[in-house]
Amino acid sequence: MRVLLMGPPGAGKGTQAEVLVQDLAVPHISTGDMFRAAIQNGTPLGLQAKLFMDQGQLVPDDVTCGIVRERLVAPDCRDGFLLDGFPRTVPQAEVLETILQELQMALDVVIDIQVSREALVQRLTGRRICRQCGAAFHVVFNPPEQPGKCDKCGGELYQRTDDSPETAENRLDVYTKQTQPLVEFYQTKGLYQVINGEQTRQAVLADICRALGRGA
Ligand code: ADP
Ligand code: ADP
Ligand code: ZN
Repeated sequence: MRVLLMGPPGAGKGTQAEVLVQDLAVPHISTGDMFRAAIQNGTPLGLQAKLFMDQGQLVPDDVTCGIVRERLVAPDCRDGFLLDGFPRTVPQAEVLETILQELQMALDVVIDIQVSREALVQRLTGRRICRQCGAAFHVVFNPPEQPGKCDKCGGELYQRTDDSPETAENRLDVYTKQTQPLVEFYQTKGLYQVINGEQTRQAVLADICRALGRGA
């Protein structure tokens, strides 16, 4: 199964992806996670990406498409994958088409998780991430059992610098301007499905599974 998960910052893509990739037994490809790993490792890619991420701007298309191409040609993507946070612009979506054509693959479904702006701001500003395994928590909506500590691996929780109120608002504007046009792109291809993301995590997951034709 080749799934594309879209939705604004804070919609719950990472949270749902974590469960879905286990269920579907496919690799989770998150460009945001890849950039954060590069930053942590101090690579040239990380240094470049950080300049844009800190501002809440998108990393340039050529850089982003380069890392995705490299990832998608890996053997573990032959039987499916879940893309999370890519593509985010129409040019990225066009490059993805080309990459998939070269690999003689096609997307099965595009899932768009929708959440109101007000709820997105609350989710982003209260989000805490595990430094070790990347799991997302929320100080109110999904608090860890022990404050500051990951339930899954015991790792330390931190707040992403781009989850500050100003940068979060900025990212939501960027989404509306640069990523929203993808809705029409994928509607035209007949792949597009909307999910109401403003429900419990379990209810959102059940809706996504239905959209994938896999009854939860
Ligand atoms: P994205 O990857 O789309 O940016 P995340 O999965 O990181 O979003 O979720 C953003 C924040 O919202 C996290 O703090 C997460 O714990 C919380 N969250 C995720 N799903 C829900 C939900 N259904 N209801 C309330 N909060 C949620
Ligand atoms: P969220 O879904 O919460 O916004 P991500 O982890 O997906 O978080 O993205 C964090 C940041 O990484 C984005 O604000 C952007 O700077 C960069 N990024 C991630 N994916 C892309 C992409 N497909 N194109 C350009 N920049 C990206
Ligand atoms: Zn963890």
